[in-house]
Amino acid sequence: MKLLLIAGTRPNFIKLAPLYHRIKNEAPDIRPYICHTGQHFDFNMSDIFWQNLELPSPDFQLNIKGDGVVDTIGKTILGINEIIRKEAFNLVVVFGDVNATAAGAIVGSQSRIPVMHVEAGLRSFDRDMPEEINRVITDHISDYLMVSEPSGIKNLEHEGFPRNKVFMVGNIMIECLLRTRPHWESIPLKGDILSFYEKKPVVATFHRPENVDNPTTLHRMADILQSYSKTQPVVFPVHPRTKARLEQHGLFQRLVDDHNILITQPMSYFEFLRLVSNASLVITDSGGVQEETSFLRIPCVTFRKNTERPVTVELGTNKMMSIFEENYLEKIEEHIAGLRQSPRKDIPLWDDSVSRRILDTIRQAVILQPKT
Ligand code: UDP
Repeated sequence: MKLLLIAGTRPNFIKLAPLYHRIKNEAPDIRPYICHTGQHFDFNMSDIFWQNLELPSPDFQLNIKGDGVVDTIGKTILGINEIIRKEAFNLVVVFGDVNATAAGAIVGSQSRIPVMHVEAGLRSFDRDMPEEINRVITDHISDYLMVSEPSGIKNLEHEGFPRNKVFMVGNIMIECLLRTRPHWESIPLKGDILSFYEKKPVVATFHRPENVDNPTTLHRMADILQSYSKTQPVVFPVHPRTKARLEQHGLFQRLVDDHNILITQPMSYFEFLRLVSNASLVITDSGGVQEETSFLRIPCVTFRKNTERPVTVELGTNKMMSIFEENYLEKIEEHIAGLRQSPRKDIPLWDDSVSRRILDTIRQAVILQPKT
């Protein structure tokens, strides 16, 4: 049986790795092929993850360089189509909510190859987010929907999906975190990163277009970082998109000149998890970071209007906040204090067996039957 696993970005690589390794170790009859679409391509956003996650060189490397979402999806569709025309696959597996996810699902579905979506059913209900559109498109043309949290089941039921297409398998990103724990807990940190790490810093990550592409929210984000740096060390691994916008608006140097803010390149997966695990607070607009902090029980504040991962708010450590929230410092302090007093609650199926449940589904599903 031949599977095509498609990934394009940093969080995709993290979600793909546990399934790839599970298949390699436990399913000799299945051959997983990896397609890297090239959306994230530089060393810090791509190669270092393949090293950390012990992934082999991709079987197919597309190097897509798109100009915006539609151009990227279009070019990725054409690239994946070429692969599928040359090789017969039994199943296409896509992950998360990026352009590679939607493109892979479209090509698989139009080529009548069954499609599996890992991390199905998440909804922010905000079509201003390109990721939300990718999620909706992908789910509605996928044959097997692998769900990570309870809201996913509810959303898919509400949208009328037949129950036999939907599988609650848990959160594969957490499996990756657990499987690599011995590595990231022991990764040596050096220089400034080590000295900031030892001081239990505030860790910040921002990259969503709604925050960084708008000059007003971008200025506000810089102000928030600097209001923290007055009293606490802040580590800010800067996403390439965010760096470009900060430079464009003359804010990058201002943050670099603040001695209590450590600006770094995007970190490796291992460095980042080690840093987050010792953070006093994480402020973010990332999807995956909301989940990792919930699992690690590190206080997290997500500066967005909504989250597609509500379980992190209900059971985890995550608090949603408008970037223009007044008195945010006090409100965040209250959140941290409240969390200290509340007992730990585990999120169902966020464990080290998510890829086993996905593999079971691959085996049980009628995926060997090509669609007619
Ligand atoms: N991450 C990382 N280095 C960093 C920042 C984030 O390894 O400097 C990891 C983080 O642990 C998480 C993933 O990248 O697993 C989240 O990716 P991102 O925030 O880019 O995407 P999103 O989850 O918002 O789609």
